[in-house]
Amino acid sequence: MRETDLQLTVLGARGSMARDGQDCAEFGGDTSCYMLRAGEETLFLDAGSGLISAPAQYPKDPVILLSHLHLDHLIGLGMFPGISNREHRPQIYVPFCEDRSGAEAILDRLYAPPFWPLKLGQLESHPELLPMPQSLRRGDLTVETMPGNHPGGCLMFRICYHGKSLVYATDFEHGEEASARLSDFARDADLLLYDAQYAECEYEACRGFGHSTARKGVAIMERSGVKRLLLVHHAPWSDDAILRDRERRLPAGTSYARQGQVITI
Ligand SMILES: [Zn+2]
Ligand SMILES: [Zn+2]
Repeated sequence: MRETDLQLTVLGARGSMARDGQDCAEFGGDTSCYMLRAGEETLFLDAGSGLISAPAQYPKDPVILLSHLHLDHLIGLGMFPGISNREHRPQIYVPFCEDRSGAEAILDRLYAPPFWPLKLGQLESHPELLPMPQSLRRGDLTVETMPGNHPGGCLMFRICYHGKSLVYATDFEHGEEASARLSDFARDADLLLYDAQYAECEYEACRGFGHSTARKGVAIMERSGVKRLLLVHHAPWSDDAILRDRERRLPAGTSYARQGQVITI
């Protein structure tokens, strides 16, 4: 990996609920978590169950950006080695809160008895819980955010590094206005991660649930000049055979994310 490369590792691309079994060995069963490396910086996008299989060499002070607070994007935090290790000082950026006490109050609703034995603030690493700003800079890495279209809200991230750009649009439901905004936000990006939870034939019954389909992702890719489309947030019931079959019918430059996959741009 070169100093100017932006590298994505898929730690979990399953949506809504983790699953396991031989029939999902190829695409994986852990929920949303992606590791991004760029020079000295490492960011985790979301903290689903995939977070617990983060490689041991993540930085001493891991940075986690949460797109929103649904369980499948948070459930890995409690068992992430980087959060229980006193040598570490994780920073967790929490959306939809005003300040640090707001960030703490939101996460304490899940990570506190009776749902979890300890509050995050009681862990030896004393993680820093921070409100997610509209934009963020860490070294040469910049993160821009934009609201997506999802029940309760969800942030989309555009991450740029030395002229490379990646857009993370999980838990996003297409729509005339929402798709136009995402197309602008993702303009000419090298890689777009796009929520394709549903098959085209499943979508009508799930309209309004805040997820999309591969065909709508391809339309946004073509409209915005995105170079490569990675489909994420696979439904728990979509096994390897189903995803492989759908993938065969996708245009060039489009695929479903596989847990463990590494993409360097
Ligand atoms: Zn989700
Ligand atoms: Zn969600």
